[in-house]
Amino acid sequence: MKTSNLSLGNLLCSVFGHRYQVAKKITPHITEYKCTVCNCESTTNISGRLDKLTPELKEINRTLADFYRKRHSLRTVA
Ligand SMILES: [Zn+2]
Repeated sequence: MKTSNLSLGNLLCSVFGHRYQVAKKITPHITEYKCTVCNCESTTNISGRLDKLTPELKEINRTLADFYRKRHSLRTVA
């Protein structure tokens, strides 16, 4: 027996595309987005394109954000 986990949101997004809203700024170049319709998450990658936000990418972004913040605060202190 097959079960479909397609919700109305998924259906709308597959027809009209996602409605992304900024969820989190990682660096000036990398931003995480969340779709207000189906709640899926995406992120801009190094080449500036949108990628599906996987747990791995989320971890990378967290590291990047941390690194960026540290570098930035070091620069303002020094
Ligand atoms: Zn969506």
